[in-house]
Amino acid sequence: MVTTRAIGIDLGGTNLRGALVELGEGEATILRQERRAVGEDRSPETVARALAVLVRELSPGERLPVGVGIAAMLRGTTGVVANAPNLGWRDVPFARLAEAELGQPVWLDNDVNVIVWGEQRFGAARGKADVLCVFGGTGVGAGAVCDGRLYRGAGNASLELGHVKVVENGRACGCGARGCVEAYAGGRHLVEQVREQPSAVLLELVQGRLEALHAGHVDEAARRGDERARGIIDEAARWLGLTLANAVTLFNPGCLLLGGTVWVGCPRLREGTLGHFRRLVNVPALDGLNIADAVLGDDAGVLGAADLGRRELGR
Ligand code: ADP
Ligand code: MG
Ligand code: ZN
Repeated sequence: MVTTRAIGIDLGGTNLRGALVELGEGEATILRQERRAVGEDRSPETVARALAVLVRELSPGERLPVGVGIAAMLRGTTGVVANAPNLGWRDVPFARLAEAELGQPVWLDNDVNVIVWGEQRFGAARGKADVLCVFGGTGVGAGAVCDGRLYRGAGNASLELGHVKVVENGRACGCGARGCVEAYAGGRHLVEQVREQPSAVLLELVQGRLEALHAGHVDEAARRGDERARGIIDEAARWLGLTLANAVTLFNPGCLLLGGTVWVGCPRLREGTLGHFRRLVNVPALDGLNIADAVLGDDAGVLGAADLGRRELGR
């Protein structure tokens, strides 16, 4: 079997992950991987430098294709980030910055685009022609494979499911708008809603260390009967379930793939979301619908990014 190697990078709002990947036909193996926090300084220049350091660590002295999935809305395929709500970037020519640091071309793509690609090529949705993938992490993102191809829309800005509006003039979202589902169900927003006035249950869960608070704690507090946490998780579930139901009603995928740190670590949010989803979805769209958990976990992004990078950079 002919194999090639490539570097895949997953740049989220919280974590920067990278892997050296060996790619074959429908198979991929991670040879080496690294993960670190994006950190406090999120300036594009600093992040581009961190990315270059990571690539060099993964493949010292080599020049392999580099694919990057980033938690951002992109401007076409120009490598320009139009809006990255959880990095705080607007109109940043990030591919160019990364290329200047690395001295070689970089393929930049949306983070959940590369995740759905990874899962469709190598994971839970292998061989499925129509896949909708929704991931909950710092924010809420989505990507889709239609008829076996990555669906991008006219301007590569499709599937911004996190920024579908659920409440007119609702909570402020990192994208600059109000009432986006991400402002209710995104990990960062789940935490933000309790951080000001954490309950006794929450303080006990994090042993007084508020900086350690994550969305999983809010879900656990809700399960332990904390009224405020319950309200926040149940509202998030309601809006996320509604959004998923409408997306499946529109798109009629054969596979709805769900994953991400928040999805995996928040059982009450998950159960609630699926309940609202089943109540609200257009019933014929459930025919033949396989609802599956993403199986590659943190690997989906780096595998998909490596494979897309290799293809798009044409080597
Ligand atoms: P990224 O958006 O960078 O890909 P992650 O997928 O790592 O980030 O998700 C980060 C989010 O996950 C944070 O908002 C945090 O609140 C939440 N989180 C971290 N650990 C857990 C956990 N164990 N359970 C549920 N949520 C978690
Ligand atoms: Mg997307
Ligand atoms: Zn938004």
